[in-house]
Amino acid sequence: MNRRRKIYEGKAKILYEGPEPGTLIQHFKDDATALNGKRHERIEGKGVLNNRISEYLFTRLGEIGVPTHFVRRLNMREQLIRELEIIPLEVVVRNVAAGSIATRLGLDEGTALPRSIIEFYYKNDQLNDPMVSEEHITAFGWANPQEIDEIMALALRINDFLSGLFLGIGIRLVDFKIEFGRLFDNEMVRILLADEISPDCCRLWDVETQNKLDKDRFRRDLGGLVEAYQEVARRLGILVENGQPKASGPVLVRSK
Ligand code: C5P
Repeated sequence: MNRRRKIYEGKAKILYEGPEPGTLIQHFKDDATALNGKRHERIEGKGVLNNRISEYLFTRLGEIGVPTHFVRRLNMREQLIRELEIIPLEVVVRNVAAGSIATRLGLDEGTALPRSIIEFYYKNDQLNDPMVSEEHITAFGWANPQEIDEIMALALRINDFLSGLFLGIGIRLVDFKIEFGRLFDNEMVRILLADEISPDCCRLWDVETQNKLDKDRFRRDLGGLVEAYQEVARRLGILVENGQPKASGPVLVRSK
């Protein structure tokens, strides 16, 4: 079926050559991995949900002026994106202690952080994506100081916007990981949001029940991953019960 040229295959996505120069097709697989690929399962339906959720979030972010690689969704599993030079950093924004920061700093999961914290990890599977500082980033030339400033400003805007969007549908945005890339536009270099934003790379907790609606369901063997992702999509107003697309927008919950 896929006669297109494969550019890159990652753990959860494949990139194919796009229909025009400067474009790529991002294909969402059903594969779920944890422990840097040591645990691997196929979870039917995950790719379709992530494609839709990421499309929705990138579109909303584009509307508030965050530059992104997203062009349009092509089908249930694929989207057309702009080809970027990916900056080899995973940018994590945290609002609440969970996961690795809880372990590293001995914090109880669920403790609100004094303020939103940005962390950088060097994208390198062989090294298990080690955490790095701005010193490492500039010394090794992964990004220059101006690019780091731009990335941090965008990361905080994205965090503010998504925190509000999710809170409106009764979900706490605990933390998330994003990636950025460079677009060369004549003499100009622009930094664009790349990759995806989906429950695979966010921690999303139900405000009322604290239930996890994200990939921790797989990482921590809690089960019900697809149901949790469906719930996120349903609250965002992009899926109805039978899984068919709907365009009503977020289903706001009333605050108490
Ligand atoms: O594991 P950790 O607590 O550092 O993860 C922080 C956030 O970044 C979580 O939302 C997690 O889903 C995301 N993440 C990711 N890909 C990684 C590492 C973390 O999406 N390789």
